[in-house]
Amino acid sequence: MQVVLYIAITLLTVAGMEFVAWAAHKYLMHGALWIWHEDHHRPHHKDGFFEKNDLFFLVFAIPSAASYIIGLNVDGWFWLTFVGIGISIYGLIYFLIHDVYIHRRFSWFRQLDGKYSRAILRAHGHHHAVTEKDGAESFGLLVVAKKYFGKRSEWADEKTKA
Ligand SMILES: [Zn+2]
Ligand SMILES: [Zn+2]
Repeated sequence: MQVVLYIAITLLTVAGMEFVAWAAHKYLMHGALWIWHEDHHRPHHKDGFFEKNDLFFLVFAIPSAASYIIGLNVDGWFWLTFVGIGISIYGLIYFLIHDVYIHRRFSWFRQLDGKYSRAILRAHGHHHAVTEKDGAESFGLLVVAKKYFGKRSEWADEKTKA
């Protein structure tokens, strides 16, 4: 039964990270840490392949690494290893969807086209419509508001109305 518990901890951590990432994006990246996030909204500020915004991968690697170190070394804390694994999995999903699929830093899944993937693109495209620190919406990645779903034609109508 231990295995079921560990899998549950991993999955809950992945799901919880969507909330953590949303909150960090809304309150830190568009708050005190806008200086690191700014070049992600204003690509002309970036210098070469990397953005200052990429520093956030290192920031999120800290709690993940700490979970692995404590989980694997401290008696009674083995479960924390799976929190570390969950954070790593979310980081990988975030990289694949946000950096590769949405922003096309690598040309891996260009042909991906489904209801959910289109909704993710629209929601994040909406987030990027604002290039200032304040006033943006859609700070999450995987949890997408209902309004971003729907047929291509319906969306085109809504876009012209907005
Ligand atoms: Zn942002
Ligand atoms: Zn983005």
